[in-house]
Amino acid sequence: MSGALLPVFQPAPMVFEHGEGAWLTTTDGERYLDFGAGIAVNALGYSHPHIMSALERQGRKLWHLSNVYRIPEGERLAERLTAASFADLVSFANSGAEANECAIKVARRYQHTRGQLERWRIITFKGAFHGRTLATMAASGNSKYLEGFGPVVDGFDQCPLGDINAVREKAGRETAAIMIEPIQGEGGVRVACPTFLRQLRDFCDELGLLLIFDEVQCGMGRTGHLFAHQEIGVAPDIMTLAKGLGGGFPVGACLATESAGSAMTPGAHGSTFGGNPLAVAVANSVLDIVEDEAFLAEIRRKSILAHAALVSAAQQFPELIADVRGHGLMLGVRTALPAQRIVEVLRIHGKVLTIPASDNVVRILPPLTVTDEEIRLFSERFHLSLRQLAVSAVKET
Ligand SMILES: *Cc1c(COP(=O)(O)O)cnc(C)c1O
Repeated sequence: MSGALLPVFQPAPMVFEHGEGAWLTTTDGERYLDFGAGIAVNALGYSHPHIMSALERQGRKLWHLSNVYRIPEGERLAERLTAASFADLVSFANSGAEANECAIKVARRYQHTRGQLERWRIITFKGAFHGRTLATMAASGNSKYLEGFGPVVDGFDQCPLGDINAVREKAGRETAAIMIEPIQGEGGVRVACPTFLRQLRDFCDELGLLLIFDEVQCGMGRTGHLFAHQEIGVAPDIMTLAKGLGGGFPVGACLATESAGSAMTPGAHGSTFGGNPLAVAVANSVLDIVEDEAFLAEIRRKSILAHAALVSAAQQFPELIADVRGHGLMLGVRTALPAQRIVEVLRIHGKVLTIPASDNVVRILPPLTVTDEEIRLFSERFHLSLRQLAVSAVKET
């Protein structure tokens, strides 16, 4: 890796040159089956013709305008996202962290506008990941990420995931909102229990708090529903999106109800690049495919195949795999070894790409367009790689 890069990443050694569907090809012509999809970003895989043509078409017209001018494709995207969800209003951003910053601002501003000036704190959950800006790091509350960056941004209180009594205890007269990922991604594919989400909704209604769902990773079809919470029937007041939204083009969004969002008046928020014509043209083309009910049903069907493959591996290698978790095509296995070790064996031995997460979890996030045959191939390579690992573990002892 070039020494000219800030040494915050430790990338794998191979260099990819192009991709197609669920496959990535290195400069040496080696092909890898990508079940990480750029951390759930490449929702439609690589080189999808529909989104490529949207990018090319818009690329010849206008890339950037600034929000000083109307962007019809952005208005159309906002209308489509609100039509498909609980929301009435949308603000575009360039990333998940930025979308979450907007959500935090909307929640605080909402309480402020209602005269609840003391309500500005937000309850978040252990294992959460909301981004790497100063505020979203504080919201995530992971000491590993916070150390050495000065005083932690104030205003976030953490509770254990799933513990409604802890939330009741933690909530005070300063609480403005509760923020949660319906499925934690970085935290280790931890699915919030539907009952818990319902309890949070009721609690928010009881106290006049806003409920924020961070669907940056689990949204945009990942669970086989356009938005993860729709399956449960618990709607938030604010929701953030990013990763899959642009299918690889950087774009994020913060969606809000009329009541929550209308506290944001002209000048209250903004972004130079957020929702520029190129970004929204691509996001509209992603949505063309992902919002189709038949496409979502296919994701749910394929999820069963992928899940079964992981369960079968867990049964065969109980000493390596402790647990299969997740929902839709956002799956994970908890391992007895550091997740990175499994990810490396899969990559080197199986030519399969996966993504490590906290809690010793290996994330399985194929593109939503993955085929049955690719899931079968993944299963085969996953089993073979684990066998390799089991054999070498025996040799080591
Ligand atoms: C990735 C992620 C973020 C941060 O997104 P960035 O685009 O990296 O800023 C926020 N929330 C969740 C749930 C994520 O998975």
